[in-house]
Amino acid sequence: MPRFEYAPAPESTTIVDIQPSYGLFIGGEFVEPTDGGVMKSVNPASEEVLAEVAEAGPADVDAAVRAARSAYQRVWEPMPGRERAKYLFRIARIIAERSRELAVLESLDNGKPIRESRDADLPLVAAHFFYYAGWADKLGHAGFGSDPRPVGVAGQVIPWNFPLLMLAWKIAPALACGNTVVLKPAETTPLSALRFAEICQQADLPPGVVNIVTGAGSTGAAVVEHPDVDKVAFTGSTEVGRQIARAVAGTRKRVTLELGGKAANIVFEDAPIDQAVEGIVNGIFFNQGHVCCAGSRLLVQESVYDELLASLKRRMATLRIGDPLDKNTDIGAINSRVQLDRIRTLSEIGEQEGAQPWSPPCELPERGFWFAPTIFTGVTQAHRIAREEIFGPVLSVLTFRTPDEAVAKANNTPYGLSAGIWSDKGSRILAIADRLRAGVVWANTFNKFDPAAPFGGYKESGYGREGGRHGLEGYLA
Ligand code: NAD
Repeated sequence: MPRFEYAPAPESTTIVDIQPSYGLFIGGEFVEPTDGGVMKSVNPASEEVLAEVAEAGPADVDAAVRAARSAYQRVWEPMPGRERAKYLFRIARIIAERSRELAVLESLDNGKPIRESRDADLPLVAAHFFYYAGWADKLGHAGFGSDPRPVGVAGQVIPWNFPLLMLAWKIAPALACGNTVVLKPAETTPLSALRFAEICQQADLPPGVVNIVTGAGSTGAAVVEHPDVDKVAFTGSTEVGRQIARAVAGTRKRVTLELGGKAANIVFEDAPIDQAVEGIVNGIFFNQGHVCCAGSRLLVQESVYDELLASLKRRMATLRIGDPLDKNTDIGAINSRVQLDRIRTLSEIGEQEGAQPWSPPCELPERGFWFAPTIFTGVTQAHRIAREEIFGPVLSVLTFRTPDEAVAKANNTPYGLSAGIWSDKGSRILAIADRLRAGVVWANTFNKFDPAAPFGGYKESGYGREGGRHGLEGYLA
């Protein structure tokens, strides 16, 4: 397949005004931390410092929780749902209006291609606020009793892979149900959450309903452990999820955990191969593979293995890697050096254990954090790259002969977040989906999200659901 040359098409960054430093957003205002430090947020594509950001200490987290409690009691919980809905609709509209600015900021801070932040992240962020705004005055009809009450103050901790989208997944349902929140964004991607704080001001959201405390793991732990937090919502790694489950065990706190995954993307011999290849590429290379539900284990029926692999390699050779702000870029930067080291380590282990890596020829930029899209063949279920979440653009390819073998291999993982099935037969898709232990199963597609659809895991992928009517449950008493 010819590789077309494209002229550079960089998105302008002039629409985003980044301040040199940011405080914490507590009680409706940006304030300096009282007992915390300062950290830097870096553009992963260039390693340039974008801004200095406050690192909240326990006293700051305490101030944020107090602000949230006060706003809960004074204004947000007593407010009728139809009034709360107006604020959420207003926030949704402002996000839609400012979506280009937010998309550029997200790509700068996270490294994801502008094509994705513009066409996937931001439309979904606005859609989540619109969707949950619609629920705010209908909670009595959601199946949780005629007059369900909010839980109180929600402490929310999110990861760096979809910074603003994970914020929307957390804040929109919490607010719709009448809770107030203290949210901690990930340490490498705090900037869009701070911009969201400005949007809360622009929307005249009552002070204290949303509080944003930036910082690293210790700040997250302070949020989770604060005695006046009623509900903990966490998205991140299974390892930290375990620590949080331990921290809240024995307390009255409610908790939902959205953790890691190692999804099987299963291709049967009757699948439309070209479409399946698109789905495989989308499944593992979307967002550089920094996706909890990424299709990181490809299970191919042996009879179509050669054809599919040749087609996949041809398609991978057309992927464009580089400047996240270039509108032609398919694969952007790895979010941090730490994450790049983890991807490299696991890939080296894959090679040492006998699997064969392949990447298309591609030039990686000199500065910044980059990893070429890679597939490993000759992978067995015992290999670490088939068992552990790599959270990068690395696909492990395995084969199967019978449907039973496909199901057994797909379920042979401690995780259970998502799966994909590619087949021409609807009956086969339904029969296989029924046997997969995965929260989301996509059929002849992958990585499709909708605010009305619940999302969440089985086994070590966590518990509780976000999205849809189900997503209200964690925020109602
Ligand atoms: P991480 O667990 O290292 O960090 C997530 C967040 O938790 C960050 O904000 C971090 O500062 C904070 N944190 C770290 N230690 C903490 C502690 N002891 N107490 C409280 N908070 C703490 O995960 P990550 O590397 O940022 O994100 C990648 C992981 O997130 C992957 O495993 C991925 O699968 C998962 N993820 C899951 C979903 C889902 O919906 N299931 C969605 C996106 C990402």
